[in-house]
Amino acid sequence: MESIATKFGIQNALKILGVQTVNEGTSTGSFHFSNGEIIESYSPVDGQLIGSVKATTKEDYETVMKVATSAFKAWRMVPAPQRGEIVRQFGDKLREKKEALGKLVSYEMGKSYQEGLGEVQEMIDICDFAVGLSRQLHGLTMHSERPGHRMYEQYHPLGVVGIISAFNFPVAVWSWNTALAWICGDVCVWKPSEKTPLCGIACQNIIAEVLKTNNLPEGISCLINGNYIVGEFMTKDSRIPLISATGSTRMGKIVAKEVAGRLGKSLLELGGNNAIIVTPDADIKMTVIGAVFGAVGTAGQRCTSTRRLIIHETIYDKVKHAIVDAYKQLRIGNPLDENNHVGPLIDTHAVKMYKEALDKVVEEGGTILVEGGVFSGKGYESGCYVKPAIAEAKSEYEIVQHETFAPVLYLLKYSESIENAIDIQNNVAQGLSSAIMTNNLREAEQFLSQEGSDCGIANVNIGTSGAEIGGAFGGEKETGGGRESGSDAWKIYMRRQTNTINYTTELPLAQGIKFDL
Ligand code: NAD
Repeated sequence: MESIATKFGIQNALKILGVQTVNEGTSTGSFHFSNGEIIESYSPVDGQLIGSVKATTKEDYETVMKVATSAFKAWRMVPAPQRGEIVRQFGDKLREKKEALGKLVSYEMGKSYQEGLGEVQEMIDICDFAVGLSRQLHGLTMHSERPGHRMYEQYHPLGVVGIISAFNFPVAVWSWNTALAWICGDVCVWKPSEKTPLCGIACQNIIAEVLKTNNLPEGISCLINGNYIVGEFMTKDSRIPLISATGSTRMGKIVAKEVAGRLGKSLLELGGNNAIIVTPDADIKMTVIGAVFGAVGTAGQRCTSTRRLIIHETIYDKVKHAIVDAYKQLRIGNPLDENNHVGPLIDTHAVKMYKEALDKVVEEGGTILVEGGVFSGKGYESGCYVKPAIAEAKSEYEIVQHETFAPVLYLLKYSESIENAIDIQNNVAQGLSSAIMTNNLREAEQFLSQEGSDCGIANVNIGTSGAEIGGAFGGEKETGGGRESGSDAWKIYMRRQTNTINYTTELPLAQGIKFDL
């Protein structure tokens, strides 16, 4: 029988992306010096080996850093709008390879093909944003208190930026960082998740081609492979002024400490525990669409996935029934098949965590409304396909406080006023995304006010999941406090310098201090 890889053209996608694997007897990727142990990449879609890559050893890493540091010296001298032109060309290449890359993302990570394409579109969007920004790296000018003096600030490139990314956005998170860092004049060393190494190689090949065409050193973009040990090469390395790390809060706490210990900067994008508040005035149809997509999209493996629904008691039963009914229509299976809504979890360890969460919520007194379970048999050979589940729970349950990276949705009830709902919403350690479904202007504004949601993202009549690249993206508390992508997030990739110029023949001191010699 025809394999999924053959039926959906995976080999062809790998060919278009120039991804050669160790299995074919060649080295992987175009530019990285990896000679370490073999990392095998199995697809969660069908459990098949897609290919193997080699991990980066400490010695390889030293070579990469040499090449990156030397590329930085050249790159920082290229005027910012010309750097933008390179990012523009990179965006064009992504447009050309969108289908192939979207397919690889879907097959290696397990999200639906549509979401894979959406992820590549985000890469294209951030390139467009960065191109415009390359002409707008503005500093302020100030009036000096001294006569004949001019004072202003400017932004300079930082140096080598280290990027550590998670499996669930195997390509977009890298470009959110790198497109901005490049126009800022930095060079980047990227360690993708060890669970999605082929996506990393595909991206590296695309930028390598652009750099080669423009006669620029490929060290502007470097790729290293491996697990946390390879990540630690960067977090411990004082030649890297900024580490941008996306992943679990557990990882972020270790990285933050390591980087702060050498007084480096870190940009942390960590776990979420996102909630939608559903008020008595909510549009139920919109609520169901937002909540169901938020909870089951990417099989609940988005940092912004909806994990909690906080529903007012007066409409609780109505919303509950509508959502339970909607779950009956979900089709779970091969994510490359556009008829399916929900694909697999990343691996069997994630399946174990999902099962444990469902056991735990029952143990703590919760009621299962939509049964979970693991699919087996034909089409589910990888053992990674699970049923999206819903449980009635209480906010104070330990498991509800926790981010389970799977399609498990908790329904929580609130009574009386919006303040109660906001308290429940804020009463978790994480602070990434939040939403309110309401047609009541007062409640919406209260949710957005300083006594409202404490999250980095707060939406009205939109779910928690997904974000546009134009806004700064990130969250508070245990989500790490970092912001990337739009707005003024670029500033973290640069160092700020204040300059004062004296064009007189006197040397007056500031604050009127006299120092007569
Ligand atoms: P993870 O923490 O297991 O791994 C993330 C990355 O960190 C991987 O590349 C891993 O190798 C590396 N890493 C782990 N320990 C490290 C260490 N001590 N030093 C250096 N590097 C280390 O996370 P995951 O399972 O790949 O991703 C899921 C998590 O990521 C979820 O918690 C999710 O919410 C979060 N996430 C957050 C955002 C966001 O923007 N806030 C976006 C995507 C994912």
